[in-house]
Amino acid sequence: MPQSCGRFAPSPSGRMHLGNVLCALLSWLSSRAKGGRCLLRIEDLDAGRCPRSYADLIEDDLHWLGLDWDEGGSVSGDSWYQSHRTAIYEEYYTILRQKAEIYPCFCSRAALHAASAPHLSDGRVLYAGTCYGLSPAETAEKRKRRAPAARIRVPDETISFIDGVQGTYSEHLPSACGDFILRRSDGVFAYQLAVTVDDGLMGVTEVVRGRDLLESTARQIWLHRLLGFPPPDYYHIPLLLDSDGRRLSKRDEDLDLGLLRQRFTPEQVVGALACAAKLIERPEPISAKALIPLFRWDKVPKTDLFLPDIFRTPPETV
Ligand code: GLU
Repeated sequence: MPQSCGRFAPSPSGRMHLGNVLCALLSWLSSRAKGGRCLLRIEDLDAGRCPRSYADLIEDDLHWLGLDWDEGGSVSGDSWYQSHRTAIYEEYYTILRQKAEIYPCFCSRAALHAASAPHLSDGRVLYAGTCYGLSPAETAEKRKRRAPAARIRVPDETISFIDGVQGTYSEHLPSACGDFILRRSDGVFAYQLAVTVDDGLMGVTEVVRGRDLLESTARQIWLHRLLGFPPPDYYHIPLLLDSDGRRLSKRDEDLDLGLLRQRFTPEQVVGALACAAKLIERPEPISAKALIPLFRWDKVPKTDLFLPDIFRTPPETV
């Protein structure tokens, strides 16, 4: 059995909020409870939206929370930032071209979201295959007007896996996902390609992330297989909801770590989240390290979690 290896892979488009902290905490606990390694990969593919300053703040916040990692982040160098890994993605994109059909897609966002397009449960649109099978002459003509994205043709195959939190999950690739983008029209490689290549090359054996990414997993498992990587185990954790039942987002600035660090100790934040995730019974302060022996995946609920009470009280006004 290879040593277990988990990762936290934040997109630094803002300060971490409590949902991100829950994900960082559970991925760290899951690896550490098995005596495994923890990696920190910065997913800044969209370099314009993900400045290095936010990535540095994430590291600082993780240190503050008491979460450490064995490799990755700024001490390990640029290769842990996706924005510096384009040459690697290029290499694996070339391998994929030999294993599957990849074709240029000229559809605009507006055309893809046309009212008639079937919408999937996660808000994406099922691609109708519009640009599949264009002749070389049609492709050349369209290229004069617009740079294409690159899509990969999915087979008539159902991918099934057992998620460590959500249970058995199956997805029929053509009807639940459709041909998907590997490279955007601006040349940036897409999340699905980058995450698969990185998890494969970095030897990741378990992926812990929000359940909003459950739908991406079948695509990633399929890409892992095409590239000859053993797919990792997956754990899709519940999302944190505010009192209106909305999932937290980076727009909820009152719940980002910048302000929370002024109001709470790391042990209070960790204890409240650990209690919400049912790892401990009462929301008492506890360090991340002290949680390691208490961690078990079968305690963690599938369904979304409400924000712990201590975070709901508005900060005292002076
Ligand atoms: N970078 C993604 C995020 O911050 C997570 C991707 C993943 O864990 O696969 O939402």
